[in-house]
Amino acid sequence: MGLINMKTPLVEMDGDEMTRILWQWIKEQLICPYVDLNVEYYDLGLPNRDVNNDRVTVDSAKAIMTYGVGVKCATITPNIQRVEEYGLKEMWKSPNATIRGILDGTVFRSPVLIDCIKPAVRAWQKPIHIARHAYGDVYGAVEQRVTAPGRAELVFTETNGGETRTLIHDFKGAGVLQAMHNRDDSILSFAHVCFKYALDRKIDLWFSTKDTISKQYDQTFKILFQEVYEKHYKADFEKAGIEYFYTLIDDAVARVIRSKGGFLWACKNYDGDVMSDMVSTAFGSLAMMTSVLQSPDGHYEYEAAHGTVTQHYYRHKRGEETSTNPIATIFAWTGALRKRGELDQNQPLQDFADKLEKACLDTLEAGIMTKDLVGLCEGVTPTPVSSKGMMDAIAKRLAGM
Ligand code: NAP
Ligand code: MG
Repeated sequence: MGLINMKTPLVEMDGDEMTRILWQWIKEQLICPYVDLNVEYYDLGLPNRDVNNDRVTVDSAKAIMTYGVGVKCATITPNIQRVEEYGLKEMWKSPNATIRGILDGTVFRSPVLIDCIKPAVRAWQKPIHIARHAYGDVYGAVEQRVTAPGRAELVFTETNGGETRTLIHDFKGAGVLQAMHNRDDSILSFAHVCFKYALDRKIDLWFSTKDTISKQYDQTFKILFQEVYEKHYKADFEKAGIEYFYTLIDDAVARVIRSKGGFLWACKNYDGDVMSDMVSTAFGSLAMMTSVLQSPDGHYEYEAAHGTVTQHYYRHKRGEETSTNPIATIFAWTGALRKRGELDQNQPLQDFADKLEKACLDTLEAGIMTKDLVGLCEGVTPTPVSSKGMMDAIAKRLAGM
């Protein structure tokens, strides 16, 4: 059988450590035997970022804006220890932060589910996808520690003159202060990508804030989401038979736990930070969590939610056997290939992505899994395998499909 052609290139961003090893195997064993891979390759491995002063990260993000779809391997965000380990010229910024800054995106996370690994929450039958607004709130806040009596006020000075003052508190003694902000344009683009993501997958969208208490801040999120819905998405949602549902964050938490899953939960920055860790852990493992950055103008970057799995890489380098789970990284590839296929109306490419995912799921359902999943497995006797053993098992199943 001939290889599947790709009309438009996919932006490939290579990475670091154990995930860089898996990356190579995924291409060699699972993709290149079936697809005439058309990629524009960017090496975001730390040594190469250092050689070209991190120019490659910016170039790769711009390439995603040109071609629309990228797939990224996990990368090291350098700290002091990494500067020494790699002899770096500088402590380069987090590639994900650089790419997010250029694409202006929202991060969506979804778990990969299999029957033999039951979520800790028994009611959940379908994935719960989380959208986290990645701008403002407490992450961009300013704070003060107050140690003497005094008057705290919130002051807004308009560029054209004029001033608004609000009393925060008359301090009689020590205390703390915090001020945070958000912008309408950022909230609006967050709303748009959430509605688009839900429509893309034909799933309901839930959104939650605490607008009853936060009568300006959270209320603004609620109003802007409602306006965007009415003006741009209501008709399409009704046609697709899906729902937009707004509720208070505490009510949402209670409903999420009782739900069967199968929806997108849009969260403000802090709520999304906390809730995505809770949801991914309750579904099983970080190694089974996929992540996609979606920009308001329809650009997509797919990756695994986990990092470069450093400890496993050190073992691999010493020649010891590792058992690193490749699933989230494989699903980053299938997500990107499927999206490329959709945008190019390339049905064989979309079908291939479905087939490769099925080969992964069938392998796991047969109990063949890496060690991180073995303790979570129910109903089948698990066969623990090495990193390479897992790749070989998936490749064999794919070849037989
Ligand atoms: P990590 O690479 O996600 O690994 C943390 C631990 O989780 C591992 O030690 C391992 O536990 C387990 N784990 C994660 N992925 C796994 C997989 N696929 N299979 C099996 N076990 C897995 O996070 P980290 O150790 O905090 O960070 C390592 C490096 O990754 C850092 O340099 C960081 O900057 C980078 N990072 C990159 C991204 C990204 O590019 N998106 C995200 C996060 C971190 P055991 O050791 O117990 O087996
Ligand atoms: Mg967190």
